[in-house]
Amino acid sequence: LVRVRAEVATEQQAMSGELATNVAGIFDAYQMLLSDPALIEKVESEIRAGHWLPSALKLTIHYFSELFRAMDDPYLKARHEDIQHLGNKLFNAWSRNEVVGGGDTLIEGPVILVGAQVSISQIASVPVEQLAGIVCFEGSSLSHTAVVANAIGVPAVMGIGAAKGLVNGDLLIVDGNEGQVILKPSDAIADEFRELVNKERQLSEKLDELRDQPARTTDGQTVRLLTNTGLLSDITPGLKNGAEGIGLYRTELTFMVRDSFPSEAEQVQVYKRVFSAYADKPIYMRTLDIGGDKQLAYFPIENEENPALGWRGIRFTLDNIQLLMTQVRAMIRAAEGADNLHIMLPMVSSIRELDTFNKLLGDACQQLRQEGHIFKRPKIGMMVEVPAAISQLPFWKDKIDFVSIGSNDLSQYLLATDRNNTHVASLFDHLHPAVLYEVKRIVDTAKQCNLPLSLCGEMGSDPVAVVLLLGMGVRTLSMSAAKLPRIKSLIRSVSIMMAEELLDQALTINNGIDIRRVVNEKLATLHLG
Ligand code: PEP
Ligand code: MG
Repeated sequence: LVRVRAEVATEQQAMSGELATNVAGIFDAYQMLLSDPALIEKVESEIRAGHWLPSALKLTIHYFSELFRAMDDPYLKARHEDIQHLGNKLFNAWSRNEVVGGGDTLIEGPVILVGAQVSISQIASVPVEQLAGIVCFEGSSLSHTAVVANAIGVPAVMGIGAAKGLVNGDLLIVDGNEGQVILKPSDAIADEFRELVNKERQLSEKLDELRDQPARTTDGQTVRLLTNTGLLSDITPGLKNGAEGIGLYRTELTFMVRDSFPSEAEQVQVYKRVFSAYADKPIYMRTLDIGGDKQLAYFPIENEENPALGWRGIRFTLDNIQLLMTQVRAMIRAAEGADNLHIMLPMVSSIRELDTFNKLLGDACQQLRQEGHIFKRPKIGMMVEVPAAISQLPFWKDKIDFVSIGSNDLSQYLLATDRNNTHVASLFDHLHPAVLYEVKRIVDTAKQCNLPLSLCGEMGSDPVAVVLLLGMGVRTLSMSAAKLPRIKSLIRSVSIMMAEELLDQALTINNGIDIRRVVNEKLATLHLG
């Protein structure tokens, strides 16, 4: 116990900067569990019953983890994973297994962490400049591990199944772009990847020069480029790459890296740092969008036959109104003194959701004014990502100030194709003619309704889609920071006239593959393909 407590403390200290703030709660919970007398008493009683220490420990961990797993309270239910994690640590401490970052293990050179699961505290145990990659045999790109890896810019490949014959010290290639891991590559392959890494570096240095240049087409139309983010450790790359604001702040990430719901004060603290980094720039904060493919470990939404069509986004938060009220209050308090807060609602499919939210917002504003806070009523908008919203926008227009196209979910629902299911991955295509047709319909309708429009799905960082969106009249795009320089460079090389012509042509083609080919051929003639 003494050794593991010290180990957890060292891990927490080793974690620096904003990431540390994000996950501090997890470490506190570990220390609390390790200091619980009930844990020691149970181990002792198992030893008295005749078990040797490792068995006593195993029985104790199993007992407590099942006790927690059976609880109704979602906070406590989620603790069973923490208990198992600590059980492993205690066993390793007892058996003196060498654990990476086990306090006294010194590692030199780049490190790739590999395991069935890689915990956040294991990530924290390796200095970030040494951490070259993460490989998990289990898990998906939506696990905490993947979220944190993404935030600190480390390639991570999840869910690859067990790797046979892998031993400490082996050379590995972790290709985050393709989601593949190459074990013990030949010299030729390793050289090829080194070359790729160098090329990427050179290209990004070249694109750096565009940072302060406007995203203006050759015929003088300016496009506003914003960034998508959601973790404190991920907010500055957007600024470094010239983002003019945050077009999508995914608040669920703040919730996902904790092990219980953040309080209003905790949320205020996190959001304030976002407002201070992006002072005077627009910030579009989305209310909690969990459910479907995004789960909180401490509040799993289980037993849904069709999670994507179930209790998610605004549906979930309106049914947990206190949670939503806390979040909206935190956003307004964090933005006090500024008027750049835009609150965005995910998965809206009925007018009733907008009415209920506007009523809640009114109540939140009233409460906060009574408490002495001085602020401007934030602008309210919604993601257009459920197809039902498209035809209804004219009926909803007076209830909202803006819309943002969520092309990821919009494509998923229009094509009835799960965005995370590898079996149908080839059917998921935001260039499918039906998607382009509906996106254009949204752009035209928003214009008629005088609703400012942006797009924040992955379509906004696909060069081919971007050209077509320009042709439709989209002038605000939001994307991950890493994609921004390339898209800016593309926009500065094309004209709206050309984009409109390409769109006209694309809308006559009956499949996404040919649409991509035709646009790419044109871009290639401009040396942009
Ligand atoms: C979308 O659906 O396009 C979107 C931007 O939101 P998310 O990917 O978080 O669902
Ligand atoms: Mg979405």
